[in-house]
Amino acid sequence: MKNKVKTLALIAHDNKKHDLVNWAIAHKEQLQKYKLCGTGTTARLVSEATGLEVKGYFSGPLGGDLQIGAKMSEKAIDKVIFFWDPLAAQPHDPDVKALLRIAVVYDIPIATNRSTANYILAD
Ligand code: PGA
Repeated sequence: MKNKVKTLALIAHDNKKHDLVNWAIAHKEQLQKYKLCGTGTTARLVSEATGLEVKGYFSGPLGGDLQIGAKMSEKAIDKVIFFWDPLAAQPHDPDVKALLRIAVVYDIPIATNRSTANYILAD
């Protein structure tokens, strides 16, 4: 039986978008094996930089984190790369917390920095 293609969600706060885009470029070959999605701006930037198709949800501050969290609770997302910004307050902090919480509830691998992202992708 053919293995199901896994879905990977990509999210980065503004100060971390550069890091995530560079990480995605460096891992383009591995990312091709996934169905990709992400919050609006992150999805667009990763898609433009890599040429990969990335389904975009709403922008994070407009509910994108919650949309991705809902998909996680439906088991429609297998892994998450979430480069959140530890040095800047976010208007949608409650949504960020909700997403991190739901990842724990459903035991979904979630990487919040480059080192962990590498592990998650290798698995
Ligand atoms: P964005 O959202 O990719 O649309 O900027 C990310 C976020 O701020 O959670």
